[in-house]
Amino acid sequence: MVYNNIQLTVLPKQACVENLLKEIIGEKIGVNPQKINTIQVIRKSIDARSKVQVKINLAVNVYTDKTTPEAVSYPFKYNNVADKPAVIVVGEGPAGLFAALRLIELGIKPIIIERGKEVSERKKDIALLNQNKGLNTESNYCFGEGGAGTFSDGKLYTRLKKKKDCSRILLNFHQHGAQDSILFEAHPHIGTDKLPVIIKNMRETILKYGGEVHFESKMTDLLINDGAIEGVQLANGEKMFAKAVILATGHSARDVYEMLQNKGITMEAKGFAMGVRVEHPQALIDKIQYHCGERGEYLPAASYSLVSQVEGRGVYSFCMCPGGFIVPASTNEKETVVNGMSPANRNSEFANSGVVVEICPEDLEAYKDFGVMAGLHFQQEFEHLSFVNGGGNAIAPAQRLTDFVKGRLSCDLPDTSYLPGLISSPLHFWMPDFISKRLREGFKEFDKKMKGFVTNDAIIVGVESRTSSPIRISRDEETLQSVALKGLYPCGEGAGYAGGITSSAMDGESCAEKIAEWLGTGI
Ligand SMILES: Cc1cc2nc3c(=O)[nH]c(=O)nc-3n(C[C@H](O)[C@H](O)[C@H](O)COP(=O)(O)OP(=O)(O)OC[C@H]3O[C@@H](n4cnc5c(N)ncnc54)[C@H](O)[C@@H]3O)c2cc1C
Repeated sequence: MVYNNIQLTVLPKQACVENLLKEIIGEKIGVNPQKINTIQVIRKSIDARSKVQVKINLAVNVYTDKTTPEAVSYPFKYNNVADKPAVIVVGEGPAGLFAALRLIELGIKPIIIERGKEVSERKKDIALLNQNKGLNTESNYCFGEGGAGTFSDGKLYTRLKKKKDCSRILLNFHQHGAQDSILFEAHPHIGTDKLPVIIKNMRETILKYGGEVHFESKMTDLLINDGAIEGVQLANGEKMFAKAVILATGHSARDVYEMLQNKGITMEAKGFAMGVRVEHPQALIDKIQYHCGERGEYLPAASYSLVSQVEGRGVYSFCMCPGGFIVPASTNEKETVVNGMSPANRNSEFANSGVVVEICPEDLEAYKDFGVMAGLHFQQEFEHLSFVNGGGNAIAPAQRLTDFVKGRLSCDLPDTSYLPGLISSPLHFWMPDFISKRLREGFKEFDKKMKGFVTNDAIIVGVESRTSSPIRISRDEETLQSVALKGLYPCGEGAGYAGGITSSAMDGESCAEKIAEWLGTGI
């Protein structure tokens, strides 16, 4: 017999120890626990609102006697597209990868052009960067196979309420090797230790069904004929031709925006956000969020999400990585940028998060001569300032959080997860006032919501500047083509239509579908 969608609220230990859970379920549905052979979790979330006891909310399907759950069924049907019409996909981040997979489903051959290296080679450059042995500007935390999402926390939720839900994206990750939990957790995440294999598996699917993937192939120009795209040119001079090009180059490819501007492709300035990364001991965040001494073995590293308004601008936590690491995420020499990642089990001793201030185009009056590129120039300057105030190469500037809020230099710094190293620096002094003042007020507000958040044991590290694109490449809402160039599909985070892995992947799929409609292959 199968009992579907049984709702339970249990203790953390009861959620983890199968026999205990069977007893509770048995009582709830009036069945001998020994007759239950499989409990299939379909939804799981943590409720830490009570100051007394953290609870786990579960929805489960229960299988008794000889019944068992059916295997996960995937909606993807791939046929070989080697001899089908080709579309060029520039960039193998989430947007490019999911666009390519969707193109294959729709009977179109994707040719992926990626400036960085394949994921296992990319790992070596990242290892050197973490040892502070230099940045490879083409192979780093942002550039290379899998894009900016490969070495990340792999959080797979999005704040965007889009037309279609994101279950296809989750199922696709699962089919390519992600853990079962992404299909039922309220806040699914994969982890940086698992993502590289999943990305490689996706590439292998693309190759198996006749697509192409070209690494260390930087697109430097668009080939245009009579107002329509006809292909791309690579850094080595090679030209590749196709009637449609998906431009999924992410928001770190500043050279791409410059090239587009020179070509007269219409772009708009958009709001973005910049600030710092804050790091606490994970045990402290657990204590605040779970209202306990130690979280014990049955609860995951606690997370938080904070937001406040300071002088008309949002100040908020971003891309929180429980049990994670701060990482050097610059793509350029003489610029220091940080971001965060976590392994699947989120077991580092540290919790980090971006804390950023919303920046609107009108805040950048001093940069107005740069027109649509104003945000990009400001971002570049902010990152250079962070470098100048750092300790050379990837050694990042840092300050104890209490000192930052009080406006004084830190005499020393606590331990950190950031491998290249930190140097004490007065971030309150050198960051632009309109960011640093709001951050200081924002942190005070956060401390009211999470008592103990502002502490001498926490640090801030400079700078978190690549939260989203400061530019949008204008596209027609209906066709998703560039308003300036027929056949060009600006896509994903770099085009300004997504923020994060899931929404970029969804945008990739949408662009592929619009291309299929346009080329007449249908869906
Ligand atoms: C360290 C880190 C952690 C993150 N953690 C999370 C997280 O947990 N959850 C989440 O949702 N988001 C996270 N993000 C953000 C997320 O990774 C991005 O939102 C997402 O990857 C954007 O997808 P995209 O495909 O649009 O662009 P990108 O992932 O940036 O991919 C663009 C690709 O294009 C390539 N490219 C650029 N220019 C060219 C060119 N001229 N020619 C050829 N190829 C080119 C790049 O090498 C890159 O591979 C994280 C980002 C970083 C850096």
